[in-house]
Amino acid sequence: MNSDVVGIDLGTTYSLAAFVTNGRPAVVRDAAGAALVPSCISFHDDGTVLVGSAAKERALSDPDHTIFSVKRLMGRTLAELKEELKLIPHQIAEREVEGGRKVLTVNVGGREHTPEELSALILKEVRARAGNPTKAVITVPAYFDDSQRQATRDAGRIAGLDVLRIVNEPTAAALAYGLDKRDAGVVAVYDLGGGTFDCSILQVADGIFRVLSTNGDTFLGGDDFDRAIMSEAAKRFAVELTNRDSETLQRYRDEAEKTKIALSSSESVEFKDRGRRTTFTRTEFEAMIAPLVERSIAKCRAAMADAGKTEVDEVVLVGGSSRVPLVRRRVEEFFRRKPHSDLNPDEVVALGAAVQADILAGNRKDLLLLDVVPLSLGIETLGGVVDKVIHRNSTVPCRETVRYSTAVDNQTAILVNIYQGERELTKDCRLLGQFKLGGIPPMPAQLPQVDITFTLDANAMLKVSAVERRSGQQAQVEVRAAHGLSRDEVEALVLQSVEHAHDDFRQRQWIEYKNKAEADLRHAAKAMAASGAGLTAEERSAIDSATRVLQAALTGNDPAVLQRAVTAFGQATSPLAELHMNAAVKTMLAGKTEGELDRAIVK
Ligand code: ADP
Ligand code: MG
Repeated sequence: MNSDVVGIDLGTTYSLAAFVTNGRPAVVRDAAGAALVPSCISFHDDGTVLVGSAAKERALSDPDHTIFSVKRLMGRTLAELKEELKLIPHQIAEREVEGGRKVLTVNVGGREHTPEELSALILKEVRARAGNPTKAVITVPAYFDDSQRQATRDAGRIAGLDVLRIVNEPTAAALAYGLDKRDAGVVAVYDLGGGTFDCSILQVADGIFRVLSTNGDTFLGGDDFDRAIMSEAAKRFAVELTNRDSETLQRYRDEAEKTKIALSSSESVEFKDRGRRTTFTRTEFEAMIAPLVERSIAKCRAAMADAGKTEVDEVVLVGGSSRVPLVRRRVEEFFRRKPHSDLNPDEVVALGAAVQADILAGNRKDLLLLDVVPLSLGIETLGGVVDKVIHRNSTVPCRETVRYSTAVDNQTAILVNIYQGERELTKDCRLLGQFKLGGIPPMPAQLPQVDITFTLDANAMLKVSAVERRSGQQAQVEVRAAHGLSRDEVEALVLQSVEHAHDDFRQRQWIEYKNKAEADLRHAAKAMAASGAGLTAEERSAIDSATRVLQAALTGNDPAVLQRAVTAFGQATSPLAELHMNAAVKTMLAGKTEGELDRAIVK
């Protein structure tokens, strides 16, 4: 091997490694030509541990000591795994460690193993087959959350690997097809594996990939197809499948997968168990899995909508389950493009990881990979409103600057509270961090110019800096923008923001008009005290009545009424504003504001 950085696809069902050799990526094969290592581990009483096909075979005769689908357990808590536990015939427990953090353990043969340790065993096997390289790029599903990514990194470390980068699987697949070389266009990556589904919409331009959007389901894959066959066969044989009989469960699971794979190339296949037989036709199978396939198509539709696209130029098929003819047909119909399928769909992710590894090893400098921000980032402005600075689905890395100001006269400091989330008010978003920008010279409200810049890098580190342009005062903070939420939780948040959009918007409008009304009343009172003597009687009474209307509107709750009152007040006070203009500078008062007032930030 002429590269010491290996690309590894650590799959739920299969894992494999690839290297770039002489500028071309190639998967690592064993003497028999097999590249895929089943993500299976078996423990024996004599202390030996088997990984890969040997363990998978063993699953049949000794299911209690064989572990699979570890990836589903990575970085998760027991509470999140209800659905999974029904299907994984092992004792899974949770142990509390320092700091109240909970660690999942899998008990096999009287010993506890963490998912990270188990994944490390798979990685070690894959690493050994690749000639024991020391550095790696490991891929994960696009919507793996922060703790799942961290668990994957930890697994790599335990396996003796320096994990240079965690890369999204769909992005790696597009790289494997060399789609960076095509003219500008849009690429859809459809990845249906054993346990997870991802759809990503990428933009390619000038050799650069940009992920426009991603969507998917961590609970959708070929395992579900197997389950459909398993339960149908059990029904036909009048057999009850339960977790307690893990041997029968495993036998059915194995036979169901064989039947499914055979149905990708044959029209009808026999499912056999202990002398009993039943035939599955492809038509029957397609009817069974059609709702699952449609679920994946619905996710593609959502990804397209998020990307703001109605058509794509290329479609890439990824994952062993994309070999199912119905899946290919539906993907082609939906995207109205013939999908790429020249590379083995279960190898493309590893090949892409190898290309990324090669880039990180410094052998290719022509590529830059971009990801998207899953939840919007912003700051708190007056009244508990979140003003979004970086919007959801922006491409990473990114940088945005927005100008703000003070809301109160002589405000010498502002407190920058950084929030993450889709809702309009701080109470419905998550506080990521805060810092104070002090030393602003006393000035009337709205005069300071505070530029707040958000810089988000590829590793989800968010730098927020603030500079007051007149005085040059600056301050900054660095926080982790990783959300630590599962994909479902992110989706639920986005959904909530849509559900509450109307109310949230009304509340936000109310706060903004209220801020304006209060500031206007304050300024007018001050101007009145200083320059009111120059007004005519009519002007004065117009201001009085507009003030009463505005104060009344403030006690109500209708933003439209308040907006009209603010406008009317502005008109009534315009003669006063004119009078006061020249005197304005003189109204600057010395003195400082602190505490509560620091939060008075406006756009
Ligand atoms: P993962 O990324 O989840 O580890 P893979 O991309 O390797 O998964 O896909 C594994 C899934 O693909 C399994 O459910 C397997 O049964 C399925 N699979 C592999 N080959 C075929 C085939 N020819 N037809 C249908 N399904 C297949
Ligand atoms: Mg995969």
